[in-house]
Order: sequence, then structure tokens, then C-alpha cells
Amino acid sequence: MPHEQHVHCSVDNCHYWGSGNMCKANEIFVTSDQLVRNAADSLDAPHAAVAVPTPVADCAETACKTFVRHGSGDKVKADGVTRLS
Ligand code: SF4
Repeated sequence: MPHEQHVHCSVDNCHYWGSGNMCKANEIFVTSDQLVRNAADSLDAPHAAVAVPTPVADCAETACKTFVRHGSGDKVKADGVTRLS
């Protein structure tokens, strides 16, 4: 994620969360709740450019596909996303 952009996120049990409610992932993939529920862990930001469009009715139907619960071990490696310092 370019330095000029900031993702603010309050989900503090995510591996990529940082103090001040800042996301420390190098990139994230926001998509529909439905895709988040059904897609494999390996489908994430590195593949977002070729993902099918997923229109939703409102913000409540969106979610961060990049979320990985803090302490989830190998699951964090599946998405191809890097945590920045
Ligand atoms: S990856 Fe998603 S859920 Fe995790 S801190 Fe970043 S924006 Fe929040």
C-alpha cells in the first residue's frame, strides 16, 4: 500500500492491526460478505485485480478479506500479504 494511503481499522484482534487503529498490511482486499464467507484463505489482496466484481447494497455487506485472527499461525501465510513494521 503506498505510503500516502492509510487504512484505519478498529479490529484489534487482527494480525495486521496496529496501534492508533492503523492497518499495517501492505495491501488489503475489501469485498462482499458473501465472498469472504465462501472463498479460500489464499484468495486475497495479491489476486484482487482479477477477482469478480461483487456489488452490495450497503456498507454492512462488505468485509475485509485480509483479516486473520492474531495468533492464527500458518493461516497468516496463506494470503500472501505482508505486515509492515
Ligand atoms: S487486514 Fe483488514 S481487518 Fe486486519 S487490520 Fe487491516 S483492515 Fe483491519
